[in-house]
Amino acid sequence: MMLLQIAIQQWVFEVIMEQNKRSRILFETIDNLACKPGLRSKIDAKCCECIYDPYQEGTWRIQVDNCTSMTCPLYWVRAKSFRKKDS
Ligand code: SF4
Repeated sequence: MMLLQIAIQQWVFEVIMEQNKRSRILFETIDNLACKPGLRSKIDAKCCECIYDPYQEGTWRIQVDNCTSMTCPLYWVRAKSFRKKDS
């Protein structure tokens, strides 16, 4: 019984630490974008805050580029991935 309790506590601890890591990566990315000068960086930071998940596939820019919310006021000025710009 004691071993089961320890295992559960360890699992809960690992889940909390993983959540904190995800939040930290997200906040650092938003901070890095938002502290740059100009409106471009603020739009990028807002889109990043809106849609970016560090554990999903693709960089923040690719995830923002894949946004499908056409009713959002920032949709037409959101960041585009460099890959699509070249093609
Ligand atoms: S354009 Fe998309 S990612 Fe950017 S703020 Fe709007 S809904 Fe969010």
